[in-house]
Amino acid sequence: MKYQVIVLAAGQGKRMKAGKNKQFIELAGKPVIVHTLTVFENDPLCEQIKLVINEKERMVFESLLAKYPISKIEEMILGGKERQDSVYNGLRAVKDSEIVLVHDGARPFIAQSVIHRLVDRAKREGAAIVGVPVKDTIKRVSNNMVEETVERASLWVIQTPQAFQYDILMQAHHQAKKEEYMGTDEASLVERLNVPVYIVEGDYENIKLTTPEDLLIANAILEK
Ligand code: C5P
Repeated sequence: MKYQVIVLAAGQGKRMKAGKNKQFIELAGKPVIVHTLTVFENDPLCEQIKLVINEKERMVFESLLAKYPISKIEEMILGGKERQDSVYNGLRAVKDSEIVLVHDGARPFIAQSVIHRLVDRAKREGAAIVGVPVKDTIKRVSNNMVEETVERASLWVIQTPQAFQYDILMQAHHQAKKEEYMGTDEASLVERLNVPVYIVEGDYENIKLTTPEDLLIANAILEK
């Protein structure tokens, strides 16, 4: 099943403290975003990539794509204030695709096999997301005091990509707008439609580069 993917790269990435968009940090001589885009460029099921960027960085992305051409990007889309706004802008640019994926540009280690299982599930069920079981003990904390130890067996860490039938994701965004709901991922919007969201087990390596320590882990993954 073919799909189109919205790759998000319009964030500030302030927690990385890199003084620049974390998408431009180099791993093994190539910017993070190039690693991510290459996964989709090389996936035969991916038809188009909608790269969502910040207007201020258009020139940087243009020169980057001149150096590392990605044939599946026809145009770059301007992002919005929040991640959800950026996704919506990307979604409006998607044409004629039954399945749409949303992926963080800052997750360069997504495996093609996981993408394919995800797309398959979204085609059959409408909505599917990648996640891994929580490894640590999780407690709810307030004012530096434990309120509760949460039952771990049912907890999963959710990553991207997240895959949806296009109409479901569009409807979820419209409803979220109407209700002024802002979520940290797409699935949370779809859940509000009472559409079941299925989990596809992914890899612990599919990290999102967020803070400086993540770069050490990223380099270790690449060396392996
Ligand atoms: O900040 P965080 O790492 O959670 O952002 C996840 C992804 O969403 C990043 O790839 C970031 O570039 C993107 N994003 C965006 N537009 C925003 C905020 C975040 O495209 N307004």
